[in-house]
Amino acid sequence: MIMKQNNKLLGFLCTTFSHHYIEEQKVTNHFKTYKCARCGKEVATNAKGKLEAITKKNKEAYSVLSSFVRKKRLSKNNKQLETNCN
Ligand SMILES: [Zn+2]
Repeated sequence: MIMKQNNKLLGFLCTTFSHHYIEEQKVTNHFKTYKCARCGKEVATNAKGKLEAITKKNKEAYSVLSSFVRKKRLSKNNKQLETNCN
């Protein structure tokens, strides 16, 4: 309960002063996920390099992409893949 109230307050700070995103997962050089240290909101860089909120809908796509990238990395150098991700 206390946590929830804190989140509300922190969420207010976020909407007032903007989120404090920290890098959570680096999938490629151009694709990273971030999490707000204050309210826990998750975002990711989209194809245009802008941050967009991670929703239930696209979260699955991101996890598929990140596991795909990881597999690629294991099999060969991922230089080619990273250019494809632009
Ligand atoms: Zn936040």
